[in-house]
Amino acid sequence: MKNIYLLGATGSIGTQTIEIIEKHPDAFCLKAISGYKNLDSIIEIASKFCLDLIAVKDMEDALIIQKHFPNTKVVYGENGLIELAVCNPKDKEGLLINALVGMVGLKPTIESIQINRNVLLANKESLVVGGHLIKDLLEEHDVHLFPIDSEHNAIWQMLQGENPKFIKKLYITASGGSFRDLSRAQLSDVTVSQALKHPNWTMGSKITIDSATMMNKGFEIIEAAYLFDMDIENIVPIIHRESIIHSMVEYIDNSISGLLATPDMRMPISYAMFYPEREESLIKPLDFTKLSKLTFEEVDYERYPLVKLAIKAYALGGSARTVLNAANEACVDLFLKQKIKFIDIETIVSKSVNTHKVIAHPSLDEIYEIDKAIKKEIYKKYNN
Ligand code: MG
Repeated sequence: MKNIYLLGATGSIGTQTIEIIEKHPDAFCLKAISGYKNLDSIIEIASKFCLDLIAVKDMEDALIIQKHFPNTKVVYGENGLIELAVCNPKDKEGLLINALVGMVGLKPTIESIQINRNVLLANKESLVVGGHLIKDLLEEHDVHLFPIDSEHNAIWQMLQGENPKFIKKLYITASGGSFRDLSRAQLSDVTVSQALKHPNWTMGSKITIDSATMMNKGFEIIEAAYLFDMDIENIVPIIHRESIIHSMVEYIDNSISGLLATPDMRMPISYAMFYPEREESLIKPLDFTKLSKLTFEEVDYERYPLVKLAIKAYALGGSARTVLNAANEACVDLFLKQKIKFIDIETIVSKSVNTHKVIAHPSLDEIYEIDKAIKKEIYKKYNN
């Protein structure tokens, strides 16, 4: 029996994780959840499980939840997320599932590694912003970081038993997002609701917008570089509209393996939770007779400039990645609030990265300072 400490329990990944826990009550026990401001969902989850800790965003909400569950520890704010990550610190078999959105996930990831607790990571921003810190910590601690992101989870599955010296390239597949059939000129007047309609995956709003700009794919290239210790030029994004192949590995003899499955996040989540075992999954089996075709297109960096910018930010190193993420978080939020246009996201994020003076190895404190400064500057200019 493994205890689960779940950050982001009320979001898309969190909800699907809970489905898996409910399906396998003999394998997992949900011990702690965070749920931002979704009080109804938090109450519903907490009524079903015997939780040790609940984390919410604000103090007022914490008081409300505490009244409902007087015997459960209730915490709030960013410190509450850290308390969740290190809840029951002697529980070495427990798993932290980090399904937070944004760089708010970084500190909980770090704290969990520091108490030698394995992390199942859906929060890619942790690695984009703090990959250099996390990499060092993973070398010091006897602990693993397992990816839930579908592309990386697929690569992780394919690399089981493979010698890293035989790996030549990783192909990260991309659906192309909600606007894949529009030209750059057609992007100028797209709306928030159009952007939120992803062709293949059902996900939260931040990642759906990141898919439409393909910032998400840029982040995933950086994520893969850290997770699999690959040179970034050997990590190739490729548009695969059907999202059936979740990613591919090319070996030095030019053979390629790909992982195929119905696009459903419950597969990668389940694989990571049961690893090294496999368990029957809740997803539909793939029916090859119903697949008419699988298509592949090169990623056009003129059409999707944020993919190229992410590769540049990785090469620039250090704090350039903090700026890339901070500017993107601010811009996606402003776009969702209809303060800026869709194409402004690219312009503002690019300008922020290109004008930043890079610090090579930023500390955690420096990362937070830069993040705050960049966001403040963008909100000041556009949030009116
Ligand atoms: Mg992904």
